[in-house]
Amino acid sequence: MARKHSRVRDARRDFLHKTSTDLVARFDTIAVEDLAPRNMVRNRRLAKSISECGWGEFRSMLEYKAERAGRRFVVIDRWFPSSKTCSVCGHLLAVLSLGTRRWSCPDCGTRHDRDVNAAKNILVAAGPVETRNACGGDVRRYGSSRPHSPVKQELPDVSPRIPVFQGGE
Ligand SMILES: [Zn+2]
Repeated sequence: MARKHSRVRDARRDFLHKTSTDLVARFDTIAVEDLAPRNMVRNRRLAKSISECGWGEFRSMLEYKAERAGRRFVVIDRWFPSSKTCSVCGHLLAVLSLGTRRWSCPDCGTRHDRDVNAAKNILVAAGPVETRNACGGDVRRYGSSRPHSPVKQELPDVSPRIPVFQGGE
């Protein structure tokens, strides 16, 4: 059993390494949401799936590899409503339950995939993608006081597969 678990761990770490290396190689700016798995224990299923998929490990891999490669690594405040905000018109939903994977904006009617919509908002919140400084390695952390306006900016195409991690062995 222990051997089986360690094989699963190795396979997962291998996957996280390959994925983080690939992302850092392909993109100048990498933005992540400052998720705090430990604060999510109230939702046990979510906490379990987050720790199983190694989010913290993945994030630190992304961070050090981005820094090493001179990429911009941006951490978005965890209270930024990335899931509940329409990435097309900026409409903010009052509630969006965790189980809701798809939703339609009551304002502009756009049909959203929860994760893709959140990723677009996070990218916009990370600031203009083309402003990476020449020296690279611009590692920032935004506080909650920063105003976010995911409304007026043009979104680059973020369609190249946004990895969705799922726990489970
Ligand atoms: Zn909308």
